[in-house]
Amino acid sequence: MFASLDPQFRDSPDGAEALSILRTCVHCGFCLATCPTYQLLGDELDSPRGRIYLMKNMLEGQPVSRLTQRHLDRCLTCRSCETTCPSGVKYGRLVDIGRSYAEAHVPRGPLDYLKRALLKTVLPRPMLFRPLLAAGRVFSPLLPLSLRRKIPTFRPPGPWPAARHSRRMLVLAGCVQPVLAPDINAAAARVLDRLGISLVTAPRAGCCGALAHHLADEHQARDAMRRNIDAWWPFVEQGAEAIIVTASGCGTEIKEYGHALRHDPDYSDRAQQIAALARDISEVISEELTDNALFYRENERDVSAAIAFQSPCSLQHGQKLKGVVEELLQSWGARLTPVPDAHLCCGSAGTYSLLQPELSRRLQANKVAALESGKPDLILTANIGCLTHLASATDTPIQHWVQWLDARLSDHHQGNP
Ligand code: SF4
Ligand code: SF4
Repeated sequence: MFASLDPQFRDSPDGAEALSILRTCVHCGFCLATCPTYQLLGDELDSPRGRIYLMKNMLEGQPVSRLTQRHLDRCLTCRSCETTCPSGVKYGRLVDIGRSYAEAHVPRGPLDYLKRALLKTVLPRPMLFRPLLAAGRVFSPLLPLSLRRKIPTFRPPGPWPAARHSRRMLVLAGCVQPVLAPDINAAAARVLDRLGISLVTAPRAGCCGALAHHLADEHQARDAMRRNIDAWWPFVEQGAEAIIVTASGCGTEIKEYGHALRHDPDYSDRAQQIAALARDISEVISEELTDNALFYRENERDVSAAIAFQSPCSLQHGQKLKGVVEELLQSWGARLTPVPDAHLCCGSAGTYSLLQPELSRRLQANKVAALESGKPDLILTANIGCLTHLASATDTPIQHWVQWLDARLSDHHQGNP
């Protein structure tokens, strides 16, 4: 695609990157078929190709309106289009640049502004989010059903094994997940402990920055990244082998720290090293299993439950880890049920479900129908956002796949059938 960007913007780092991405798009339209918003709305401007045109016009210096911003807001950043695109268009990077540009040129209405400011302030801070959730639990009978179902019941995390192994890995505590489901990281710690790896947390690390990033606040996102790098670095120097992430949305973000901080002279080197150390929990377990005969012996028991796996967009499109968890689950005897249109987003997409509730609900309903079509006894996923979003719309039990594995190994050790 030919593009001649606004000279003022063209010479900036974002301008140069946007231009090189725009040039790779050949307008073929293959991406339209796998774009969830295009499937729902049938409007070219709510498709990847349409949005690329809108961004091109905007970055060329043409007047940018609220309408352009609305079409960019409706994009889930699911990156399904990247997986489909035969030309390798880095749509996710382009829409980040486009959103920041639009944010700087189009004022938002007061209500929209307030909503986004509240989300950016409350969700990344457990000290604010935790009491809010506690109040939500107390007053849940007074809340509308749709909101009530979004509040998960508290499950105690269970024991976190002492750091007894010489092999150590860090784990991202995150922001929303430790408040909503502290049992996920604890389950990961127990599974890795059996593999001879101690999982440790860095007390001063927090939100990965994805929340602010997806709300086009690059300053807040980069501040979060720098704080995490400072918190993790001493552990890396002491030999931590990897930074484990159990929420695939956060994993996608941390793997991009090197790119996000590439122009920061104080952090660029360390950001690249941190990004290279970031691993989804499925990557580590699948590698470690290859050498671990004990795990294979533990895997002799059949699992009768039928399981539907919901592969989050951040896992399959963002981190390109399609099929990894499914293979692991099957290798442990899980009977996976078919999930039609598994490439499509469930509508959670970070804060999307709160900012675009109508589209999000339609995607949620489609995803629940697809997951339940094989009549599973259990739904497993790999991202806290998808987990809470889907749990509010189904009565089928749903959990993180590492929780299922932890429970299975624990049953085996206790001799349960
Ligand atoms: S599939 Fe790729 S090259 Fe084709 S229109 Fe979509 S983004 Fe452009
Ligand atoms: S990121 Fe997802 S919603 Fe956005 S244009 Fe691509 S496929 Fe469509």
